[in-house]
Amino acid sequence: MTADPDCLFCKIVAGDIPGDIVHTGERTLAFRDINPQAPLHVLVVPRDHEPNAAASAHADPEMFAEIATTARAVATAEGYDDYRLVFNTGAGVGQTVFHTHCHVLAGRPMTWPPG
Ligand code: 5GP
Ligand code: ZN
Repeated sequence: MTADPDCLFCKIVAGDIPGDIVHTGERTLAFRDINPQAPLHVLVVPRDHEPNAAASAHADPEMFAEIATTARAVATAEGYDDYRLVFNTGAGVGQTVFHTHCHVLAGRPMTWPPG
């Protein structure tokens, strides 16, 4: 699967919906979350549509590793050594957009366990 015509993040990847893009890679894209939960809140997405992180890791393990290195590059470029990566996987834990995305959060104290 490469693109889903009904998918919000596929539309951002295609440029059909504007995104505040901070990094463009061959197979990944990173843009600021529209409702930021921290001073840095960026979403790293694969260009290819898969519904969640497990599906992307299965379909393309190398690309999945690229998500993690892209997340580090984004955090470093914004001046953060410490950051949190979150993949909500499934509606039951809060996933609302069913195109794989890695939340990159930084810039404020964070608690554990997460809420
Ligand atoms: P989820 O809850 O699926 O893990 O995360 C989806 C994220 O997408 C949310 O943090 C939400 O704020 C963000 N989001 C939803 N719609 C848009 C949009 O149109 N543009 C951007 N940049 N982010 C969005
Ligand atoms: Zn998609």
